[in-house]
This record gives sequence, C-alpha cells and structure tokens, in this order.
Amino acid sequence: MIDATTQGSGQRKLPMQGVPQPTREEVLKLPRVHISTHPVMAHKLTALRDKNTQPPEFYRLVKEIGALLAYEATASLALNSCTIETPMGTTQGQRLAGGIGVTPILRAGLGLAEAFREVIPDVQIWHLGLRRDEHTLQALEYYNQLPHQVNLQVAYAVDPMLATGGSAIDAITILKRRGIPRLSYVGIIAAPYGLAKLAETHPDIDIYLGALDERLNDIGYIVPGLGDAGDRQFGTF
Ligand code: URA
Repeated sequence: MIDATTQGSGQRKLPMQGVPQPTREEVLKLPRVHISTHPVMAHKLTALRDKNTQPPEFYRLVKEIGALLAYEATASLALNSCTIETPMGTTQGQRLAGGIGVTPILRAGLGLAEAFREVIPDVQIWHLGLRRDEHTLQALEYYNQLPHQVNLQVAYAVDPMLATGGSAIDAITILKRRGIPRLSYVGIIAAPYGLAKLAETHPDIDIYLGALDERLNDIGYIVPGLGDAGDRQFGTF
C-alpha cells in the first residue's frame, strides 16, 4: 500500500518535496499583512538567525522582537476616555477598551507571549498545544487552556515561525469559535507558502511579522530562517 507520503519506490516522500510555493513578491501583495521595516527589528533578527546565538540570548532576543511586534500589533486598539487626577490637577486620559488575549502556540510561542505580557501586563494568556506531524505537517491539538467565557476586544495567536501555516490556521479557527470580535496572528519569520495559506483561509485577520523569507525546504523548515525556534529557545537539541 502506498500512502500520500510514499513514493512508488517505497521511499517516503518528504512532505514539501515538489509542492509549488508562491514567491515573496506574490504574497507581498496580500492585504492585512504587516511586515516590519524597522531597522532595530532587522538588527535583532540578524542576531536571532545566527547559528552561534545560544539559547539564553536567543530567548532574550525573541522577547525583544516580540515587544516590537506587540507595539505594532496593538497600534490600532480601541480606547475609552476617562478622567484622572494628576498631582497637578484634573485631565482627560485614555484606557484600553476591553481585554486583550494572547494565545501562544506551544511551545515555541511562549517567548512571544511573555513579550506581550511585558508590554501590556494585564493580557490574558491562553495556552494552546499544537504539534505538527513530521510526515504530513498537519497540526494536532494536544492541549487547550482557552476559557469558555470570554470578553475580549482582541486576541493574538503568537508563534515565531509561520512555515506551512497549519498551526496558525488551526489556532485562529479555534479562537474564532470563542466569538472574539477581532483576531490577529503575530510571528517572527514567515515563508510565502504559510503566509498565503493563512491569509487565504482567514482573510479577516491581521498578520504581523518581523520578516518574510524565501521558501520552505523539503521538510517544511523556513529558508534561510533560524532553524527550530522551540529548540533554540529552550536548548533542546
Ligand atoms: N518551525 C520552526 O521552528 N522552524 C521552521 O523553520 C519551521 C517551523
């Protein structure tokens, strides 16, 4: 019996082998995709990609990049007016209207979620465990700590690498079922293939990225990328 990932010779076919992929130029035209052009982002990404960067520094960089992305991704949040007293008198202020949820896709998304929490300390963090099957690259849910009652203005699914798009698509689908009015995806590096799949499947979300790379290799890793973002954060090589 030859399954979808097995060639006639009996050899296993690599999951992205021969799969057509869009170019960077094609996906750059997609609406609601925001790719950072900030020089500090470019500088930090270079250090992050470097294979000599060790896990403690790598994790610190993920959080610093995450903070830059959090600023960009929260730039259009709604505000409520309020009146406050300063030591000098009364003034009008503004407070964020409604709660903010962050869903890290385990485990690689943990550093980005921490970055959001440092920028906005009262974010709610909802963990979601999605593991990709290495043969089919399909995302499998193994852990879900999303509350049933939600009252948020926005939720962000965060995962550093948007590769085939499978986990990101599933995370947004799961969050949509909770009825959150506005959803976004935040990642550090995307491949054109995964970005196109996510934007086509969920055209109603915003996608915030630090960089858009060239392509996926035959086993679904982003090139040039940075390798495995989970292993590099947590030192599990
Ligand atoms: N996940 C990673 O950590 N890196 C990739 O390049 C693709 C998926």
